[in-house]
Amino acid sequence: MAATPEKAPKDQWGRSQLVRPDSASLVGVIAVVDRIDPALAKRSAEHVLAWPRHFGLDALVVPAMKRLLQSKHRTGNGFTALHDAAVDHLRQRIAEPRIAEPLEAPRSWARPKTVRCDCEPCKQLSRFLVDPNEECWTLRAAQQIRTHVEYTIRHAPADVDCETVRRGSPHSLICTKNQASYQRRVIQRKLDLADLAILQGRPK
Ligand SMILES: [Zn+2]
Repeated sequence: MAATPEKAPKDQWGRSQLVRPDSASLVGVIAVVDRIDPALAKRSAEHVLAWPRHFGLDALVVPAMKRLLQSKHRTGNGFTALHDAAVDHLRQRIAEPRIAEPLEAPRSWARPKTVRCDCEPCKQLSRFLVDPNEECWTLRAAQQIRTHVEYTIRHAPADVDCETVRRGSPHSLICTKNQASYQRRVIQRKLDLADLAILQGRPK
């Protein structure tokens, strides 16, 4: 039976007792179990895939598969299951922007509304973000509010550069839109295509 997060041992506070592995450990485990115990190799792979948030396809599985391929390890139940999952994951993300977020530079000043906070200054920020005609927004407010809005922008993250202008009272936070999320998608796409090419380089 496949492992699921619900079945993991819990500590006295109900938290899962698991050590977060790195890709080198996963490479070691799969290299060994694939050689000595095909059934255990299959279960190990199922366990990793049942815990996507804990093990992480990007953080762990994709780099581990690249390393295994480099070391000429390209067969076995563990390798095959994890390799197929990594390829599916990359293919899906490569296809995604074409549907939800076209991989092209924004044509207006409208930017994704990524802000969750709904306090009044953040609502103003959200309205600014989706406005197709506004490149710049100036928030003149006390330091506490400016710091909060800057924090919100950084953690959203929102496609905005901030600059504090210490003139007048209160000071101003000048928010200027950028293309950061589009650039992130371009970089991600390049990395995904490169990783996919490496993962698919194995002979069938
Ligand atoms: Zn807020």
